[in-house]
Amino acid sequence: MTRIVILGGGPGGYEAALVAASLGASVTVVDSDGIGGACVLTDCVPSKALIATSETMTNLALAPGLGIRPHGPGVTADTSSPAVAWGMPSGSDSGTPALTPPEVVGVDPVQVYERVRELAKAQSLDIERRLEREKVEIVHATGRLVGPHAIEASNGETFVGDAVLVATGAAPRILSSAQPDGERILTWRHLYDLKEIPEHLVVVGSGVTGAEFASAYRALGAEVTLVSSRDRVLPGEDLDAARVIEDVFVRRGIEVLNRSRASSVRRIGDGVIVELSDGRTVAGSHALMAVGSVPRTRDLGLTDVGVRLGPGGHVGVDRMSRTSVPGVYAAGDCTGVLPLASVAAMQGRIAMWHALGEAVSPLRLGTVSSNIFTEPEIATVGMSQVMKDAGAVAAEVTTVPLSRNPRAKMMGIQDGFVKLFCRPGSGSVLGGVVVAPRASELILSVSLAVENGLTVDQIAHTFSIYPSLSGSITEAARVLRPRDFFAGFDKPS
Ligand SMILES: Cc1cc2nc3c(=O)[nH]c(=O)nc-3n(C[C@H](O)[C@H](O)[C@H](O)COP(=O)(O)OP(=O)(O)OC[C@H]3O[C@@H](n4cnc5c(N)ncnc54)[C@H](O)[C@@H]3O)c2cc1C
Repeated sequence: MTRIVILGGGPGGYEAALVAASLGASVTVVDSDGIGGACVLTDCVPSKALIATSETMTNLALAPGLGIRPHGPGVTADTSSPAVAWGMPSGSDSGTPALTPPEVVGVDPVQVYERVRELAKAQSLDIERRLEREKVEIVHATGRLVGPHAIEASNGETFVGDAVLVATGAAPRILSSAQPDGERILTWRHLYDLKEIPEHLVVVGSGVTGAEFASAYRALGAEVTLVSSRDRVLPGEDLDAARVIEDVFVRRGIEVLNRSRASSVRRIGDGVIVELSDGRTVAGSHALMAVGSVPRTRDLGLTDVGVRLGPGGHVGVDRMSRTSVPGVYAAGDCTGVLPLASVAAMQGRIAMWHALGEAVSPLRLGTVSSNIFTEPEIATVGMSQVMKDAGAVAAEVTTVPLSRNPRAKMMGIQDGFVKLFCRPGSGSVLGGVVVAPRASELILSVSLAVENGLTVDQIAHTFSIYPSLSGSITEAARVLRPRDFFAGFDKPS
Protein backbone atom coordinates (compact mmCIF):
# COMPACT_ATOMS: atom_id res chain seq x y z
CA MET A 1 0.00 0.00 0.00
CA THR A 2 1.29 3.48 -0.89
CA ARG A 3 1.82 5.76 2.12
CA ILE A 4 0.96 9.45 1.82
CA VAL A 5 1.80 12.03 4.49
CA ILE A 6 0.15 15.44 4.28
CA LEU A 7 1.26 18.52 6.20
CA GLY A 8 -1.73 20.84 6.66
CA GLY A 9 -5.44 20.03 6.82
CA GLY A 10 -6.96 22.93 4.86
CA PRO A 11 -8.65 22.47 1.47
CA GLY A 12 -5.28 21.72 -0.16
CA GLY A 13 -4.57 19.01 2.40
CA TYR A 14 -7.95 17.47 3.21
CA GLU A 15 -9.18 17.24 -0.38
CA ALA A 16 -5.91 15.52 -1.27
CA ALA A 17 -6.37 13.13 1.64
CA LEU A 18 -9.85 12.17 0.41
CA VAL A 19 -8.58 11.47 -3.11
CA ALA A 20 -5.60 9.45 -1.85
CA ALA A 21 -7.81 7.43 0.52
CA SER A 22 -10.30 6.72 -2.27
CA LEU A 23 -7.42 5.36 -4.36
CA GLY A 24 -6.45 2.95 -1.60
CA ALA A 25 -3.47 4.77 -0.11
CA SER A 26 -2.73 4.85 3.60
CA VAL A 27 -2.98 8.54 4.50
CA THR A 28 -1.83 10.61 7.48
CA VAL A 29 -2.69 14.32 7.86
CA VAL A 30 -0.61 16.32 10.34
CA ASP A 31 -2.34 19.61 11.18
CA SER A 32 -1.64 22.20 13.86
CA ASP A 33 -4.66 24.52 13.96
CA GLY A 34 -7.71 22.45 13.04
CA ILE A 35 -8.98 20.40 10.11
CA GLY A 36 -10.50 22.59 7.44
CA GLY A 37 -7.60 24.96 7.86
CA ALA A 38 -7.66 28.71 7.88
CA CYS A 39 -10.23 28.42 5.10
CA VAL A 40 -12.83 26.93 7.42
CA LEU A 41 -11.77 28.29 10.80
CA THR A 42 -10.67 31.88 10.25
CA ASP A 43 -10.87 33.07 6.65
CA CYS A 44 -13.31 31.97 4.00
CA VAL A 45 -16.11 30.34 5.98
CA PRO A 46 -16.33 32.87 8.85
CA SER A 47 -16.15 35.86 6.51
CA LYS A 48 -18.94 34.52 4.32
CA ALA A 49 -21.04 33.68 7.39
CA LEU A 50 -20.60 37.26 8.62
CA ILE A 51 -21.48 38.52 5.15
CA ALA A 52 -24.73 36.53 5.27
CA THR A 53 -25.75 38.79 8.17
CA SER A 54 -24.51 41.97 6.49
CA GLU A 55 -26.32 41.04 3.28
CA THR A 56 -29.58 40.78 5.22
CA MET A 57 -28.92 44.22 6.72
CA THR A 58 -28.34 45.64 3.24
CA ASN A 59 -31.62 44.17 2.06
CA LEU A 60 -33.35 45.73 5.06
CA ALA A 61 -31.76 49.08 4.30
CA LEU A 62 -33.11 48.87 0.76
CA ALA A 63 -36.54 47.57 1.84
CA PRO A 64 -38.27 50.97 2.09
CA GLY A 65 -37.74 51.38 -1.65
CA LEU A 66 -39.91 48.26 -2.11
CA GLY A 67 -42.67 49.66 0.09
CA ILE A 68 -41.80 47.87 3.32
CA ARG A 69 -42.52 49.74 6.55
CA PRO A 70 -41.80 48.68 10.10
CA HIS A 71 -44.64 48.69 12.58
CA GLY A 72 -45.16 47.64 16.12
CA PRO A 73 -44.72 49.00 19.62
CA GLY A 74 -42.39 51.93 19.82
CA VAL A 75 -42.26 52.67 16.10
CA THR A 76 -43.85 56.03 15.54
CA ALA A 77 -41.95 57.18 12.52
CA ASP A 78 -43.56 58.97 9.62
CA THR A 79 -44.29 56.09 7.26
CA SER A 80 -44.74 58.37 4.28
CA SER A 81 -40.99 58.78 4.23
CA PRO A 82 -39.13 55.54 3.55
CA ALA A 83 -35.86 56.61 5.12
CA VAL A 84 -37.46 58.08 8.22
CA ALA A 85 -39.63 54.98 8.56
CA TRP A 86 -36.47 53.02 9.22
CA GLY A 87 -35.18 55.59 11.64
CA MET A 88 -32.64 56.87 9.19
CA PRO A 89 -30.92 60.20 9.48
CA SER A 90 -32.96 62.90 7.79
CA GLY A 91 -31.70 63.74 4.35
CA SER A 92 -31.26 60.10 3.35
CA ASP A 93 -34.78 60.02 1.87
CA SER A 94 -34.19 61.38 -1.57
CA GLY A 95 -36.67 59.25 -3.46
CA THR A 96 -34.08 56.54 -4.13
CA PRO A 97 -33.81 53.45 -1.91
CA ALA A 98 -32.22 54.32 1.40
CA LEU A 99 -28.59 53.29 1.50
CA THR A 100 -27.67 53.57 5.14
CA PRO A 101 -28.22 50.74 7.61
CA PRO A 102 -31.65 50.75 9.25
CA GLU A 103 -31.58 51.92 12.84
CA VAL A 104 -34.83 50.32 13.95
CA VAL A 105 -33.28 46.90 13.29
CA GLY A 106 -30.29 46.14 15.44
CA VAL A 107 -27.37 43.76 15.05
CA ASP A 108 -26.56 41.64 18.10
CA PRO A 109 -22.78 41.39 17.76
CA VAL A 110 -22.39 38.70 20.40
CA GLN A 111 -24.83 36.43 18.61
CA VAL A 112 -23.44 37.26 15.18
CA TYR A 113 -19.86 36.38 16.13
CA GLU A 114 -20.91 33.32 18.13
CA ARG A 115 -22.89 32.00 15.15
CA VAL A 116 -19.88 32.54 12.90
CA ARG A 117 -17.50 30.74 15.29
CA GLU A 118 -19.89 27.84 15.90
CA LEU A 119 -20.52 27.40 12.19
CA ALA A 120 -16.79 27.30 11.47
CA LYS A 121 -16.16 24.80 14.29
CA ALA A 122 -19.02 22.58 13.14
CA GLN A 123 -17.75 22.57 9.56
CA SER A 124 -14.24 21.71 10.73
CA LEU A 125 -15.65 18.82 12.75
CA ASP A 126 -17.73 17.61 9.77
CA ILE A 127 -14.61 17.44 7.62
CA GLU A 128 -12.65 15.69 10.37
CA ARG A 129 -15.40 13.05 10.74
CA ARG A 130 -15.45 12.55 6.97
CA LEU A 131 -11.68 11.98 6.92
CA GLU A 132 -12.03 9.50 9.79
CA ARG A 133 -14.74 7.61 7.92
CA GLU A 134 -12.34 7.32 4.99
CA LYS A 135 -9.74 5.88 7.42
CA VAL A 136 -7.42 8.88 7.15
CA GLU A 137 -5.17 9.14 10.20
CA ILE A 138 -5.33 12.64 11.71
CA VAL A 139 -2.53 13.94 13.92
CA HIS A 140 -3.15 17.22 15.73
CA ALA A 141 0.39 18.55 15.92
CA THR A 142 2.85 20.89 14.28
CA GLY A 143 5.01 19.15 11.72
CA ARG A 144 8.19 19.72 9.75
CA LEU A 145 10.14 17.82 7.14
CA VAL A 146 13.14 15.94 8.51
CA GLY A 147 13.80 14.10 5.24
CA PRO A 148 12.33 14.36 1.74
CA HIS A 149 9.58 11.93 2.69
CA ALA A 150 9.57 12.18 6.48
CA ILE A 151 7.52 14.50 8.66
CA GLU A 152 8.31 14.88 12.33
CA ALA A 153 5.34 15.97 14.43
CA SER A 154 5.51 17.98 17.66
CA ASN A 155 4.04 14.97 19.51
CA GLY A 156 7.35 13.18 18.90
CA GLU A 157 6.18 10.83 16.16
CA THR A 158 7.74 10.70 12.68
CA PHE A 159 5.67 9.75 9.65
CA VAL A 160 7.36 8.46 6.50
CA GLY A 161 5.51 8.40 3.18
CA ASP A 162 6.17 7.34 -0.38
CA ALA A 163 5.02 10.86 -1.17
CA VAL A 164 4.57 13.97 0.95
CA LEU A 165 2.23 16.91 0.33
CA VAL A 166 2.91 20.30 1.89
CA ALA A 167 -0.29 22.37 2.24
CA THR A 168 0.42 24.71 5.12
CA GLY A 169 -1.45 27.77 3.83
CA ALA A 170 -0.70 31.40 4.56
CA ALA A 171 -1.03 33.91 7.40
CA PRO A 172 -1.96 37.62 7.46
CA ARG A 173 0.95 39.90 6.55
CA ILE A 174 1.96 41.96 9.58
CA LEU A 175 3.60 45.38 9.19
CA SER A 176 6.15 46.22 11.88
CA SER A 177 4.61 49.72 12.13
CA ALA A 178 1.12 48.35 12.67
CA GLN A 179 1.38 45.48 15.13
CA PRO A 180 -2.04 43.93 15.80
CA ASP A 181 -3.08 43.76 19.47
CA GLY A 182 -6.22 41.73 18.82
CA GLU A 183 -8.40 44.38 20.46
CA ARG A 184 -8.18 47.56 18.43
CA ILE A 185 -5.56 46.82 15.79
CA LEU A 186 -6.79 43.69 14.11
CA THR A 187 -6.20 41.18 11.38
CA TRP A 188 -9.28 39.50 9.89
CA ARG A 189 -8.63 36.54 12.19
CA HIS A 190 -9.34 38.69 15.29
CA LEU A 191 -12.72 39.97 14.15
CA TYR A 192 -14.84 37.11 15.45
CA ASP A 193 -13.50 37.51 19.01
CA LEU A 194 -14.75 41.09 19.23
CA LYS A 195 -17.68 41.83 21.51
CA GLU A 196 -18.94 44.72 19.43
CA ILE A 197 -19.44 46.03 15.92
CA PRO A 198 -16.67 48.65 15.67
CA GLU A 199 -18.02 52.16 15.90
CA HIS A 200 -15.55 53.38 13.29
CA LEU A 201 -13.54 50.76 11.44
CA VAL A 202 -10.52 51.94 9.47
CA VAL A 203 -9.77 49.24 6.90
CA VAL A 204 -6.18 49.38 5.67
CA GLY A 205 -5.95 47.74 2.25
CA SER A 206 -8.53 47.81 -0.54
CA GLY A 207 -7.90 44.41 -2.10
CA VAL A 208 -10.49 41.64 -1.95
CA THR A 209 -10.30 41.11 1.82
CA GLY A 210 -10.36 44.83 2.66
CA ALA A 211 -13.25 45.50 0.28
CA GLU A 212 -15.32 42.57 1.56
CA PHE A 213 -14.98 43.63 5.21
CA ALA A 214 -15.52 47.33 4.44
CA SER A 215 -18.75 46.40 2.66
CA ALA A 216 -19.88 44.03 5.42
CA TYR A 217 -19.15 46.28 8.40
CA ARG A 218 -20.80 49.29 6.78
CA ALA A 219 -23.96 47.21 6.37
CA LEU A 220 -23.64 46.09 10.00
CA GLY A 221 -23.75 49.72 11.08
CA ALA A 222 -20.10 50.71 11.46
CA GLU A 223 -18.71 53.93 10.17
CA VAL A 224 -16.04 52.75 7.73
CA THR A 225 -12.97 54.41 6.24
CA LEU A 226 -11.16 52.45 3.54
CA VAL A 227 -7.50 53.35 3.10
CA SER A 228 -6.18 52.39 -0.32
CA SER A 229 -2.65 53.00 -1.51
CA ARG A 230 -3.81 52.67 -5.12
CA ASP A 231 -5.92 54.84 -7.44
CA ARG A 232 -9.05 52.87 -6.70
CA VAL A 233 -10.51 50.06 -4.66
CA LEU A 234 -9.93 46.50 -5.85
CA PRO A 235 -6.81 47.18 -7.92
CA GLY A 236 -6.16 44.28 -10.26
CA GLU A 237 -9.87 43.51 -10.68
CA ASP A 238 -12.01 44.46 -13.68
CA LEU A 239 -11.93 48.27 -13.80
CA ASP A 240 -15.64 48.66 -14.62
CA ALA A 241 -16.56 46.33 -11.79
CA ALA A 242 -14.29 48.13 -9.33
CA ARG A 243 -15.87 51.46 -10.34
CA VAL A 244 -19.35 50.12 -9.56
CA ILE A 245 -18.20 48.92 -6.15
CA GLU A 246 -16.42 52.18 -5.31
CA ASP A 247 -19.54 54.13 -6.32
CA VAL A 248 -21.74 51.94 -4.15
CA PHE A 249 -19.29 52.24 -1.25
CA VAL A 250 -19.33 56.04 -1.44
CA ARG A 251 -23.14 56.15 -1.74
CA ARG A 252 -23.45 53.91 1.29
CA GLY A 253 -21.32 56.25 3.33
CA ILE A 254 -17.92 54.52 3.25
CA GLU A 255 -15.13 57.06 3.17
CA VAL A 256 -12.72 55.85 0.47
CA LEU A 257 -9.22 57.33 0.71
CA ASN A 258 -7.49 56.45 -2.55
CA ARG A 259 -3.76 57.08 -3.15
CA SER A 260 -3.33 57.02 0.62
CA ARG A 261 -0.64 54.71 1.98
CA ALA A 262 -0.84 53.90 5.68
CA SER A 263 2.60 54.27 7.23
CA SER A 264 1.70 53.28 10.78
CA VAL A 265 -1.19 52.35 13.02
CA ARG A 266 -1.09 53.18 16.74
CA ARG A 267 -3.44 52.45 19.54
CA ILE A 268 -4.48 55.49 21.53
CA GLY A 269 -6.67 54.54 24.50
CA ASP A 270 -9.86 53.02 23.15
CA GLY A 271 -9.13 53.97 19.59
CA VAL A 272 -6.58 53.92 16.82
CA ILE A 273 -4.71 56.49 14.79
CA VAL A 274 -3.75 55.52 11.26
CA GLU A 275 -0.95 57.71 9.95
CA LEU A 276 -0.74 58.16 6.20
CA SER A 277 2.57 58.63 4.43
CA ASP A 278 1.61 62.18 3.38
CA GLY A 279 1.23 63.18 7.03
CA ARG A 280 -2.56 62.99 7.29
CA THR A 281 -4.08 60.92 10.09
CA VAL A 282 -7.31 58.97 10.34
CA ALA A 283 -8.81 58.29 13.77
CA GLY A 284 -11.07 55.31 14.35
CA SER A 285 -12.25 52.94 17.04
CA HIS A 286 -10.60 49.92 15.36
CA ALA A 287 -8.21 49.29 12.48
CA LEU A 288 -8.40 46.20 10.29
CA MET A 289 -5.13 45.37 8.57
CA ALA A 290 -5.89 43.74 5.22
CA VAL A 291 -2.53 44.10 3.50
CA GLY A 292 -2.12 40.58 2.14
CA SER A 293 -0.81 37.24 3.30
CA VAL A 294 2.53 35.49 3.63
CA PRO A 295 3.07 31.76 3.03
CA ARG A 296 3.53 29.56 6.10
CA THR A 297 6.73 27.97 4.88
CA ARG A 298 9.27 29.06 7.50
CA ASP A 299 10.70 26.47 9.87
CA LEU A 300 9.21 23.59 7.90
CA GLY A 301 12.61 22.18 6.95
CA LEU A 302 11.77 22.63 3.28
CA THR A 303 15.07 24.05 2.03
CA ASP A 304 17.00 21.57 4.22
CA VAL A 305 15.58 18.74 2.12
CA GLY A 306 16.11 20.64 -1.15
CA VAL A 307 12.67 22.11 -1.80
CA ARG A 308 13.12 25.39 -3.64
CA LEU A 309 11.20 28.46 -2.41
CA GLY A 310 10.38 31.57 -4.44
CA PRO A 311 11.50 35.06 -3.37
CA GLY A 312 8.33 35.60 -1.30
CA GLY A 313 8.83 32.27 0.47
CA HIS A 314 6.23 30.39 -1.60
CA VAL A 315 6.93 26.76 -2.47
CA GLY A 316 7.77 26.50 -6.17
CA VAL A 317 5.50 24.02 -7.94
CA ASP A 318 4.66 23.03 -11.48
CA ARG A 319 1.14 22.47 -12.78
CA MET A 320 1.24 18.91 -11.43
CA SER A 321 1.92 20.31 -7.92
CA ARG A 322 5.47 18.86 -7.98
CA THR A 323 8.18 20.69 -6.08
CA SER A 324 11.89 20.56 -6.91
CA VAL A 325 12.24 17.33 -4.90
CA PRO A 326 10.80 14.10 -6.37
CA GLY A 327 7.94 12.77 -4.26
CA VAL A 328 7.39 16.10 -2.46
CA TYR A 329 4.29 17.93 -3.66
CA ALA A 330 2.73 21.23 -2.52
CA ALA A 331 -0.73 22.73 -2.82
CA GLY A 332 -2.70 25.81 -1.85
CA ASP A 333 -1.75 29.21 -0.48
CA CYS A 334 1.77 28.10 0.46
CA THR A 335 2.48 27.86 -3.30
CA GLY A 336 1.16 31.34 -4.14
CA VAL A 337 -0.42 30.04 -7.35
CA LEU A 338 -3.89 31.55 -6.76
CA PRO A 339 -5.20 32.08 -3.22
CA LEU A 340 -8.56 30.38 -3.56
CA ALA A 341 -9.93 27.37 -1.72
CA SER A 342 -11.04 25.80 -5.00
CA VAL A 343 -7.54 26.09 -6.46
CA ALA A 344 -5.91 24.72 -3.30
CA ALA A 345 -8.25 21.73 -3.42
CA MET A 346 -7.55 21.10 -7.10
CA GLN A 347 -3.79 21.34 -6.62
CA GLY A 348 -4.04 18.82 -3.77
CA ARG A 349 -6.13 16.41 -5.85
CA ILE A 350 -3.78 16.72 -8.83
CA ALA A 351 -0.81 15.96 -6.56
CA MET A 352 -2.44 12.75 -5.34
CA TRP A 353 -3.61 11.61 -8.77
CA HIS A 354 -0.05 12.13 -9.99
CA ALA A 355 1.64 10.52 -6.99
CA LEU A 356 -0.64 7.50 -7.17
CA GLY A 357 -0.20 6.96 -10.90
CA GLU A 358 -3.62 8.09 -12.10
CA ALA A 359 -4.17 9.81 -15.46
CA VAL A 360 -4.21 13.52 -14.67
CA SER A 361 -4.18 16.83 -16.53
CA PRO A 362 -2.09 19.75 -15.33
CA LEU A 363 -3.78 22.59 -13.41
CA ARG A 364 -5.53 25.07 -15.73
CA LEU A 365 -6.01 28.51 -14.23
CA GLY A 366 -7.74 30.00 -17.28
CA THR A 367 -11.07 28.49 -16.30
CA VAL A 368 -11.03 29.25 -12.55
CA SER A 369 -14.01 31.33 -11.48
CA SER A 370 -13.68 33.61 -8.48
CA ASN A 371 -15.92 35.94 -6.54
CA ILE A 372 -15.60 39.05 -4.42
CA PHE A 373 -18.28 39.00 -1.74
CA THR A 374 -18.96 42.72 -1.59
CA GLU A 375 -22.52 43.94 -2.01
CA PRO A 376 -23.05 43.69 -4.96
CA GLU A 377 -20.68 40.81 -5.66
CA ILE A 378 -18.16 40.62 -8.49
CA ALA A 379 -17.75 37.21 -10.14
CA THR A 380 -15.22 36.61 -12.89
CA VAL A 381 -14.07 33.73 -15.05
CA GLY A 382 -11.58 33.32 -17.87
CA MET A 383 -10.31 36.19 -19.96
CA SER A 384 -10.14 39.66 -18.40
CA GLN A 385 -10.45 43.20 -19.74
CA VAL A 386 -6.76 43.74 -18.94
CA MET A 387 -5.83 40.82 -21.23
CA LYS A 388 -8.03 42.21 -23.99
CA ASP A 389 -6.69 45.76 -23.64
CA ALA A 390 -3.12 44.45 -23.67
CA GLY A 391 -3.89 42.64 -26.92
CA ALA A 392 -2.87 39.33 -25.31
CA VAL A 393 -5.93 37.64 -26.82
CA ALA A 394 -8.14 38.88 -29.65
CA ALA A 395 -11.66 39.21 -28.31
CA GLU A 396 -14.98 40.92 -28.76
CA VAL A 397 -16.63 42.24 -25.63
CA THR A 398 -20.01 43.58 -24.63
CA THR A 399 -21.37 44.92 -21.37
CA VAL A 400 -25.07 44.79 -20.50
CA PRO A 401 -26.04 46.94 -17.50
CA LEU A 402 -28.42 45.37 -15.01
CA SER A 403 -30.41 48.60 -14.95
CA ARG A 404 -32.12 47.41 -18.13
CA ASN A 405 -32.86 43.92 -16.79
CA PRO A 406 -36.58 43.59 -15.96
CA ARG A 407 -36.01 41.38 -12.90
CA ALA A 408 -33.42 43.82 -11.57
CA LYS A 409 -35.94 46.63 -11.91
CA MET A 410 -38.56 44.57 -10.03
CA MET A 411 -36.04 43.87 -7.27
CA GLY A 412 -34.91 47.48 -7.05
CA ILE A 413 -31.37 46.60 -8.17
CA GLN A 414 -29.63 49.59 -9.74
CA ASP A 415 -25.98 48.61 -9.77
CA GLY A 416 -24.22 45.94 -11.77
CA PHE A 417 -23.69 44.49 -15.21
CA VAL A 418 -22.84 41.40 -17.21
CA LYS A 419 -19.75 41.53 -19.42
CA LEU A 420 -18.94 38.75 -21.91
CA PHE A 421 -15.80 38.17 -23.95
CA CYS A 422 -15.82 35.97 -27.03
CA ARG A 423 -13.39 34.98 -29.76
CA PRO A 424 -13.98 36.94 -32.98
CA GLY A 425 -15.20 34.66 -35.75
CA SER A 426 -16.00 31.47 -33.85
CA GLY A 427 -17.80 33.29 -31.04
CA SER A 428 -16.34 30.92 -28.40
CA VAL A 429 -16.91 32.37 -24.96
CA LEU A 430 -13.55 33.36 -23.46
CA GLY A 431 -14.64 34.88 -20.18
CA GLY A 432 -17.05 37.04 -18.30
CA VAL A 433 -17.66 39.37 -15.41
CA VAL A 434 -20.91 39.57 -13.47
CA VAL A 435 -21.52 42.38 -10.96
CA ALA A 436 -24.79 41.68 -9.17
CA PRO A 437 -26.25 40.47 -5.91
CA ARG A 438 -25.29 36.77 -5.77
CA ALA A 439 -23.05 37.08 -8.83
CA SER A 440 -21.35 34.00 -7.38
CA GLU A 441 -24.43 31.99 -8.36
CA LEU A 442 -24.87 33.63 -11.77
CA ILE A 443 -21.34 33.10 -13.10
CA LEU A 444 -21.70 29.31 -13.43
CA SER A 445 -23.33 29.46 -16.87
CA VAL A 446 -20.41 31.56 -18.14
CA SER A 447 -17.93 29.18 -16.47
CA LEU A 448 -19.62 26.22 -18.19
CA ALA A 449 -19.33 28.03 -21.51
CA VAL A 450 -15.63 28.85 -20.98
CA GLU A 451 -14.78 25.35 -19.75
CA ASN A 452 -16.59 23.61 -22.59
CA GLY A 453 -15.82 26.01 -25.43
CA LEU A 454 -19.48 26.98 -25.94
CA THR A 455 -20.19 29.85 -28.32
CA VAL A 456 -22.22 32.99 -27.79
CA ASP A 457 -24.64 31.59 -30.38
CA GLN A 458 -25.26 28.60 -28.13
CA ILE A 459 -25.87 30.84 -25.12
CA ALA A 460 -28.06 33.16 -27.20
CA HIS A 461 -30.22 30.17 -28.22
CA THR A 462 -30.55 28.97 -24.61
CA PHE A 463 -33.80 29.83 -22.85
CA SER A 464 -33.29 31.90 -19.74
CA ILE A 465 -36.15 32.41 -17.32
CA TYR A 466 -38.20 35.55 -17.87
CA PRO A 467 -37.74 37.62 -15.79
CA SER A 468 -34.36 36.72 -14.33
CA LEU A 469 -30.95 38.28 -13.73
CA SER A 470 -29.46 35.46 -15.81
CA GLY A 471 -31.46 36.90 -18.72
CA SER A 472 -28.68 39.51 -18.95
CA ILE A 473 -26.21 36.73 -19.75
CA THR A 474 -28.25 35.52 -22.71
CA GLU A 475 -28.81 39.14 -23.71
CA ALA A 476 -25.06 39.81 -23.69
CA ALA A 477 -24.59 36.75 -25.91
CA ARG A 478 -27.24 38.05 -28.30
CA VAL A 479 -25.54 41.44 -28.46
CA LEU A 480 -22.28 39.72 -29.43
CA ARG A 481 -24.03 37.81 -32.21
CA PRO A 482 -26.78 40.22 -33.33
CA ARG A 483 -26.76 39.45 -37.03
CA ASP A 484 -26.73 35.66 -36.75
CA PHE A 485 -29.30 35.39 -34.03
CA PHE A 486 -31.72 38.00 -35.21
CA ALA A 487 -31.37 37.32 -38.95
CA GLY A 488 -34.76 38.01 -40.47
CA PHE A 489 -36.17 39.50 -37.24
CA ASP A 490 -36.40 43.01 -35.86
CA LYS A 491 -33.98 43.22 -32.94
CA PRO A 492 -35.98 43.83 -29.73
CA SER A 493 -35.01 46.96 -27.86
C1 LIG B 1 -10.65 36.72 4.72
C2 LIG B 1 -10.50 35.69 3.65
C3 LIG B 1 -11.61 35.23 2.98
C4 LIG B 1 -11.47 34.27 1.98
N1 LIG B 1 -12.59 33.88 1.31
C5 LIG B 1 -12.47 33.00 0.30
C6 LIG B 1 -13.61 32.62 -0.45
O1 LIG B 1 -14.71 33.11 -0.23
N2 LIG B 1 -13.45 31.68 -1.43
C7 LIG B 1 -12.24 31.12 -1.69
O2 LIG B 1 -12.14 30.28 -2.59
N3 LIG B 1 -11.14 31.46 -0.99
C8 LIG B 1 -11.23 32.39 -0.01
N4 LIG B 1 -10.13 32.75 0.71
C9 LIG B 1 -8.86 32.07 0.41
C10 LIG B 1 -8.84 30.68 1.06
O3 LIG B 1 -9.15 30.81 2.44
C11 LIG B 1 -7.48 30.04 0.89
O4 LIG B 1 -7.15 30.05 -0.48
C12 LIG B 1 -7.47 28.61 1.40
O5 LIG B 1 -7.64 28.61 2.79
C13 LIG B 1 -6.15 27.91 1.07
O6 LIG B 1 -6.19 26.60 1.55
P1 LIG B 1 -4.86 25.87 2.05
O7 LIG B 1 -5.21 24.44 2.23
O8 LIG B 1 -3.74 26.21 1.17
O9 LIG B 1 -4.50 26.55 3.44
P2 LIG B 1 -5.26 26.76 4.81
O10 LIG B 1 -6.73 26.77 4.65
O11 LIG B 1 -4.59 27.95 5.38
O12 LIG B 1 -4.87 25.49 5.67
C14 LIG B 1 -3.53 25.25 6.03
C15 LIG B 1 -3.49 24.33 7.22
O13 LIG B 1 -2.13 23.99 7.45
C16 LIG B 1 -1.90 23.93 8.84
N5 LIG B 1 -0.47 24.13 9.12
C17 LIG B 1 0.31 25.20 8.83
N6 LIG B 1 1.56 24.99 9.23
C18 LIG B 1 1.59 23.76 9.77
C19 LIG B 1 2.59 22.96 10.37
N7 LIG B 1 3.86 23.38 10.46
N8 LIG B 1 2.26 21.76 10.86
C20 LIG B 1 0.99 21.30 10.77
N9 LIG B 1 0.00 22.01 10.21
C21 LIG B 1 0.29 23.22 9.71
C22 LIG B 1 -2.77 25.02 9.42
O14 LIG B 1 -3.10 24.69 10.73
C23 LIG B 1 -4.00 24.95 8.51
O15 LIG B 1 -4.96 24.12 9.09
C24 LIG B 1 -10.22 33.73 1.68
C25 LIG B 1 -9.08 34.18 2.36
C26 LIG B 1 -9.22 35.17 3.31
C27 LIG B 1 -8.00 35.68 4.00
